[in-house]
Amino acid sequence: MPSKYTAPHIANKVRKLRKASIDVTLVFNKLIAGDKTALAQAITLIESTRESDFQLAENLVNQCLTIPSKGIRIGITGVPGVGKSTFIEALGGFLTAMGKKVAVLAVDPSSSFTKGSILGDKTRMETLAKDPNAFIRPSPASDALGGVTRKTRETLILCEAAAFDVVLVETVGVGQSETAVHSMVDFFLLLKLAGAGDELQGIKRGIMEMADAIVINKADGSNLNQVKIARGEFKRALHLYPPKENQWTPTVLSCSALHNLGIEAVWETISHFMTMTKANGHFAKNRTNQNKNWFLQSVDALLKHQFYANSQTKDRLKQLLNQVETNQISPYAAAKALVQK
Ligand code: GDP
Repeated sequence: MPSKYTAPHIANKVRKLRKASIDVTLVFNKLIAGDKTALAQAITLIESTRESDFQLAENLVNQCLTIPSKGIRIGITGVPGVGKSTFIEALGGFLTAMGKKVAVLAVDPSSSFTKGSILGDKTRMETLAKDPNAFIRPSPASDALGGVTRKTRETLILCEAAAFDVVLVETVGVGQSETAVHSMVDFFLLLKLAGAGDELQGIKRGIMEMADAIVINKADGSNLNQVKIARGEFKRALHLYPPKENQWTPTVLSCSALHNLGIEAVWETISHFMTMTKANGHFAKNRTNQNKNWFLQSVDALLKHQFYANSQTKDRLKQLLNQVETNQISPYAAAKALVQK
């Protein structure tokens, strides 16, 4: 008689247990009741790379999408050291003190290299992390920005279903991730320092152009005069950009995240932006456009995935790569031959 403890038998049992351990409806019900443990569990499911979890994750996201979104999505970017985590701690604390629920997510395309996410460091946002009305989630570990973006978008939906009023999406300023974050938020905030040139701050022009507000941080101590000069410079720089379609004029502010100064003014600006764009219809329009883009990007990603997953394609790709290597075919002709097939 075969033993009960053969490897396939155990694997089967584990599979069954895993399947049984995630009851999507139960997780969903807890999540919409604001249970942070259920939210964390749901996000883990979204981030799972196990094929068997994909359908469960999709079901969960679909259920969450039935809850109307009432939250505000804010993107926050700036180079390392500008004070992003100190600022998020200050703004987050200000908002939870107002009775709002705040979620903090991160998009960090470099996490696969650093083997840790930008929010993974436990010493960051210590106070906010302990706040019962706050939820902090490090960026998903994934090597492809596309994967990180999709997961962050879905996580955002889960947070809103869990009744979070404000979702802050943090990104470290390297260019590509800012564009991704900009494509999923309502308001985009760029943190800057005074007295450091743009080159030094590594912020590309395109990112300045995306900003709805530039906030110069570390406006304290001997830095105050430089901050005043920088505010003028940034205001002039922003005037050079064409007016935004939503009729919003990007604002330049300053704050000291460390000393909790100027945080209220930042929130007032964001609130003003929301009121204005909701009234002129651009808030809804922006979200619709973002959804349309998300759809198109998903088509792109799914097509690519299906294409490369095909075993015949894999073989042909190998052959053609060899031919390109030995100059038997031009790279473009090889690509055409592969795709046409
Ligand atoms: P991040 O890398 O952008 O997340 O930056 P951090 O929040 O970790 O801050 C980097 C350093 O700047 C830390 O030593 C902070 O204490 C300091 N810092 C952040 N905000 C301020 C501020 O408003 N004023 C001053 N003087 N220092 C600040």
